[in-house]
Amino acid sequence: MRLVLLAALVVAGSARAQDVPDKPPEDVPADNRFDPGRMQSSLVVPRTAVARFRFPAIDVHSHDYVETPAAVAEWVKLQERVGVARTFVLTGETGGAFQALVAKYAGAYPGRFVMFSGFTTEGIDAPDYGERLRAGLRADVAAGAHGMGELSDKGLGLVRVGDKAYFIDDPRFDPLWDEAGKLHVPVFVHVAEPAAFYEPPDEKNDLRRSANWSLYGKGTPGFQAMLEKFERVLSKHPGTQFVAVHSFNLTNDLGAIAALLRRHPNVDVDFAARMWELARQPFTARKFFLEHADRILFGTDNDPAPAMYLAHVRQMETQDEWFWPADAEWWRGYGLGLPDGVLKKVYRENALKLLARRR
Ligand SMILES: [Zn+2]
Repeated sequence: MRLVLLAALVVAGSARAQDVPDKPPEDVPADNRFDPGRMQSSLVVPRTAVARFRFPAIDVHSHDYVETPAAVAEWVKLQERVGVARTFVLTGETGGAFQALVAKYAGAYPGRFVMFSGFTTEGIDAPDYGERLRAGLRADVAAGAHGMGELSDKGLGLVRVGDKAYFIDDPRFDPLWDEAGKLHVPVFVHVAEPAAFYEPPDEKNDLRRSANWSLYGKGTPGFQAMLEKFERVLSKHPGTQFVAVHSFNLTNDLGAIAALLRRHPNVDVDFAARMWELARQPFTARKFFLEHADRILFGTDNDPAPAMYLAHVRQMETQDEWFWPADAEWWRGYGLGLPDGVLKKVYRENALKLLARRR
């Protein structure tokens, strides 16, 4: 209540905009008496009124989140209201299923939605699999795909047949990466999960609130091995442009991400659904954004909602303190207060460059 009052004061002095409350985590186990979602902050600090992105933003990490044409229309209206100019829909679908999603989004709103496809997993051991992967990608691109995504290997395989995992560096997938390079379309890859998800989700684990995502004891090769697998792909296909979504799931160690970016010029990163990790290291994160402004894409990976978009605005553009970032873990955090030049690149220019590679 106090924050809202204070916000009203701040608003009075600047642009008139309604404040949107932060969203604390709600899914804390019932027997957990340390409940950050219910704990109120007694900190009194200024809070910026945020209403829309400072520059027309391109959200490069979204999905088929809504059901009906009416809901798609609502989503478009919301994007216009908060200043999202374009949204990449990572469908992971191929063939007819992909074409249906093209019609639903990009077909209905050309220029507003940018579509990304998947690949077939059928007959993965057949000798013609590689050729079918190539042909499938060519067909999806002809049907409106601007690239592939989101392709995920969290440690259980990029493709899994029964108990057999076909990991991302399996040579069966080489034709796919190669064809994407030939077509000049980017590939959005989700590799691994945060390293904490491979550890026991006990009281020492600082991501244990998200234990529903835990991969502990699931028979994966582990975080480091998964990262090495993806690096092998990046090295083997230098002519193919990749996007490591969730920044390689290494957002707890931005120095390690910087080293990966230096080693592999053919990969960009997004911080979709990992803003909470940046929120607790605002100084290190700001430095990272300034140093790697050409390699970072803006993405949300979240159901469309005003509070979700504006949480990103607050974190990217202001130096507000101790607010709940999008997808908060148990901690609040701090804004990055990024300069306009960096915001323009991250919100927009880097995504446009990615799309312009296609000839
Ligand atoms: Zn995603």
